[in-house]
Amino acid sequence: MKKLLFQLDTDEQPSSFDTVVAYDGGADHVVSYASICPENVKPIIEGTIFTRSPKEKKNTALFVGGSNLEAGQSLFHAIQKQFFSNFRVSLMLDSNGANTTAAACIALLTKNHTITGMNAVVFAGTGPVGQRAAVMLAKEGANVTITGRQLDKTQKVADAIESHFSVKVTPLAAPELIDRKKIAENMDIIIATGAAGIQILDAKTWQDSSRIKLLADANATPPSGIEGIEVMDRAVDRFGKISFGAIGFGTLKLALHRKCIEKLFESNSLVLDANEIYALAKDMVKD
Ligand code: NAP
Repeated sequence: MKKLLFQLDTDEQPSSFDTVVAYDGGADHVVSYASICPENVKPIIEGTIFTRSPKEKKNTALFVGGSNLEAGQSLFHAIQKQFFSNFRVSLMLDSNGANTTAAACIALLTKNHTITGMNAVVFAGTGPVGQRAAVMLAKEGANVTITGRQLDKTQKVADAIESHFSVKVTPLAAPELIDRKKIAENMDIIIATGAAGIQILDAKTWQDSSRIKLLADANATPPSGIEGIEVMDRAVDRFGKISFGAIGFGTLKLALHRKCIEKLFESNSLVLDANEIYALAKDMVKD
């Protein structure tokens, strides 16, 4: 029986990245839909849950993607509302690669470091990757701050994180470099998840700090999000701090994304969001 993955994208054009990884993760056929939202998803879900027998249902799976995490989350929840008894198929949420990217980054960061009680900041943490990185750091017991250029947007993101994941993160506005330098003074961990090609922090701030221990930068497009961190860094010692760059953890991100797709076809009841994907990432980085 063919393994079918229905790629439900909230954008007008489905992500070709997600399509490729779906095949690489083991799908025999990927059906990509664009502009999917809670209002138009019903017939697609009915077609996936009412067709195959209970034993065969694990060969059908759903993937929710797109650039907007909020839209992805709404769709993800609407889909689950349609499931009942065994009329369900496995489902994964990874809007803009948020879960797999953040999980790879934080799993590597915490592989050899216990971060409970540490202060962590996710600079430009209002995007999909930053939001999920904040959740995972908080679940590890860190005191997490997220920043954005506007307080109201950052506050909304912090509220959404609390309502979805029951963890508190502190929202701060940091529109200028000087604001981020000040915040960095009290941090043990610095994560930058700014938009591609946006420099968020200068080199001097972290290189001169006696407090900062761990740094990660998700941006792979020059200039780097944290000046002085190289994209290939993977637990590199720089100025006595351990550094991770976007490609340094990007290889794990890709492997994790593929692993998630593979797992979707193992049963018809798997639901993969931040917690489950982070657990898988932690498992993959175990020695
Ligand atoms: P995003 O949504 O594009 O941007 C994140 C945040 O950056 C935005 O919410 C915004 O926050 C801030 N921002 C945007 N333009 C800015 C500007 N001109 N100056 C200062 N801040 C600005 O990012 P994402 O999708 O979460 O991805 C985060 C990063 O991870 C990106 O660089 C992406 O390319 C990278 N990525 C890496 C991998 C990997 O495997 N390494 C995978 C996926 C993504 P405010 O509006 O609140 O200020």
